[in-house]
Order: sequence, then structure tokens, then C-alpha cells
Amino acid sequence: MQRTHLHDEDQQVAAVLDHEIRRQSEGMELIPSENYVSQAVLEALGSEFTNKYSEGYPGKRYYGGQEFTDDVENLAIERAKQLFHCDHANVQPLSGAPANVATYFAWLEPGDTVLGMDLGHGGHLTHGHPVTYISKIFNFVRYKIGNLETGEIDYDNLRAMALEHKPKIILAGFSAYPRSYDYDKFAEIAKEVGAVAMADMAHIAGLIAGGVLPNPFDHGFHIITTTTHKTLRGPRGGMILSQGKVGNPLKKPEKTIENLPTLIDRSVFPGFQGGPHMSNTAAKAVAFGEALKPEFKVYAQQVLDNAKALADELMKLGCKLVTNGTDNHLMLIDTVTSWGLTGDVVETVLDRVNMTLNKNGIPDDKNPPYTPSGVRLGTPAMTTRGMKEDEMRKIAQYIRKAVDHRDDEGTLKNLQQEVKEFCLQYPVPESHG
Ligand SMILES: *Cc1c(COP(=O)(O)O)cnc(C)c1O
Repeated sequence: MQRTHLHDEDQQVAAVLDHEIRRQSEGMELIPSENYVSQAVLEALGSEFTNKYSEGYPGKRYYGGQEFTDDVENLAIERAKQLFHCDHANVQPLSGAPANVATYFAWLEPGDTVLGMDLGHGGHLTHGHPVTYISKIFNFVRYKIGNLETGEIDYDNLRAMALEHKPKIILAGFSAYPRSYDYDKFAEIAKEVGAVAMADMAHIAGLIAGGVLPNPFDHGFHIITTTTHKTLRGPRGGMILSQGKVGNPLKKPEKTIENLPTLIDRSVFPGFQGGPHMSNTAAKAVAFGEALKPEFKVYAQQVLDNAKALADELMKLGCKLVTNGTDNHLMLIDTVTSWGLTGDVVETVLDRVNMTLNKNGIPDDKNPPYTPSGVRLGTPAMTTRGMKEDEMRKIAQYIRKAVDHRDDEGTLKNLQQEVKEFCLQYPVPESHG
């Protein structure tokens, strides 16, 4: 993209941006929540829509001049509904965390209970971590992985907890869980206790949109929250999808499951946010358009195939993976069992050879979050750059080599050069088909 104005008018920011662009192209991006958007998404994101205030919803705004903001928001909404097979989409949440908070407030009263995944077993901060404000407002109780060898959730225990705690929301979703859920079981338990079934699909939305992982809506869920970056490969942002009757957001509806779409709209605005970021909405529309193309299904399948190849090769090289493999795009290496090293040490060694991943806790971790017992990695970003199974095996070998030679300056330096040249063979694509 030509950025002549930036280079002419602010050399300092331009220089830093140039460095970041270079870092992204010369590095191996393995953080499972990251990806590369198309230039079309970047252009929409950097567009004149950022100049516009548009509080409210299409056809019901609080400012004038909304002909085109309405058009672009409606495009984003219609495409999202088509991608995820649902009655309603609120595309205004500024990111994944605000989408979750707005959803809680749409349905819960202070003190109400949410049954979510244990944070140490892969749940997200916004599922009630004690450091969050929402944990002081709502009561979060947690289910766990029942079998750490297979990763299966203990559904009998989930049901027993639901019967005991009477949650208003049962929440399926994770940011560090390499396996699949049985959505039917979640929905069945939610129905039994009269709870709303909510899925936070931030990590896997692209894999659901691409049709390679099941869609919770096909199994009786009421709400899906998600980010629009990560596997969905759009701009940083959030979205709330729901089933039910779409009503007038200006009128307060009765609090029923049927009215969730309108309750959610009113919770996002005016309940929680002010003006939506319309350039971001435009970029979401573009990304959803890309995700509706047949090429996106190919990408989504390759993300899964690559994760399997990477996991298999890592295990062949002696790595202990949490749950011994993966069903999605991510995996966790138990670095303490594998190499006697904490995750932060492994993250730092890999940084030195241009490979980026993140330290991460493992289930029931005995080490603290800043020096945890594992690392988390995944395949979306490098799949976007065109890598396939052979390249995944090579990545596993690079990881092993870097860790083995972590005290050998010379080897690390050579390896960094090799990784860089390898990455440059797979340029960041400008277009996604
Ligand atoms: C990433 C993520 C979020 C938060 O998204 P942000 O855009 O960082 O606010 C919420 N839930 C889950 C499960 C996530 O993985």
C-alpha cells in the first residue's frame, strides 16, 4: 500500500511502521490469535468512514448524514448472518472483550451466575477472571477438562454444576483449548436449567465460517460472541450473533430468550458503548465478504490440516502436548515436561530466531502466569501465507533445534537467518482471493 502522506508528514511514525511491516514479513507468526488481513480490509479500515459519528443502528441514528454508514453497516450485518446462519448480528462491539461484557449485561442482573470454562483449562479472562471488573458484578463458576489425556470435558460434572448453581448463562468458549466441544450436550444442559447457551468463538470463528468446525447455532445455542480478527481474518473488532426476533432497538423489550437480539442491541448501545467505529465496520464487511468466498473454505481446512501436521511432528520430536494433540488451529506445549524449561524461556529463545509464539499456562499449572509451564502456538497466520503440511514439519524442527541450542549463540544466529529466508519464500499475500 502507498503511504506517501505518512512518510512525508510524520517520519517518526512512518519509520516505526516500516519496521513493523518488515518484522511481520521476516518472522514466523505462530501466535494462534494472529493473522494477516488483506489490503482490501486495510483500505476499508483506513477509510474516511472514521470521520463519521453514527450512534444508533441503521435507520435509527442519533446524528444526520447516515445514508452510507447505514449501507455499510447493513452489508456487514447481512454478510455475518449469511456466514453464521443466524437471525441477527450486532457488528458494533469494539473488540472481543466489550462484546462479552455487553452480552452479560444484556441478559444478567448483578449477582447472576455464569457457568464458564475454567481459566486455567483454557477459558478467557472475560469469562470471569478475578482481575476483571465483571467478576465483581456477576458470579462466575467454572467447569474443567475432565480427562487431560484426551481433553474431553466432564459433561456429567458440567450438568451437576448447572443443577447446583442455576446459571443464567452457560458459556462455551476458550482461548487455549486444543479440542472440540460437544455443543449438543451444552445446549441440552442449558435447556434443562433454563439458561441461555452462549458460545464465545473468538478463536475459531473463521473455522466455523469456513465450515470445518461445527457451528453452535446448528446445535441449539442462542448467542455467539466473537472477535473479527483471529481466524476470521478481519480487522480487530467484535461481534455478537444471536437467534430470535429482531425488534426495534428504541423500545425496551420484555426479557425473554426470543428477544435476545433486541436486548443485545440495547446493551451494546446505549448500554455500554458510544459511537461505533464505522471504518472498522466497513472493514468487517469486506472481511466477511472474503469469508463467503470458496477460497476461504480451503484456507480454513488447511489451518486444521496444518495444525495436525505441526502437532504430530512436535510429538515425534519428543514434545508433550496438552491433550496429546489438537482438533483445531492451536496447541499447547508442556515445556516443563518436554524440556524442563518454563514457557517464558522458550518464548524468548524462539523470539531470537524470528519465531513468535506466547508463553501460556497449562491445565492446573503449578507455575505463575508470567513464568508458566507451557507455550501456545497455532497455524492460522502461516497458513494465510501459503504454508502447508511439509512447512509445518519444518517449523517443528526449527522449534526443537532452537530449544536444543538455546545457549549456542552461533547456531541461533544461523537459524535466525534460515527462518527469515524460509519466511520470505511465503510473502504476506495482498489479496485473499
Ligand atoms: C481473544 C478473545 C477475546 C477477547 O478479544 P479482544 O479483542 O482481545 O478483546 C474474548 N474471548 C476469547 C475466547 C478470546 O479468545
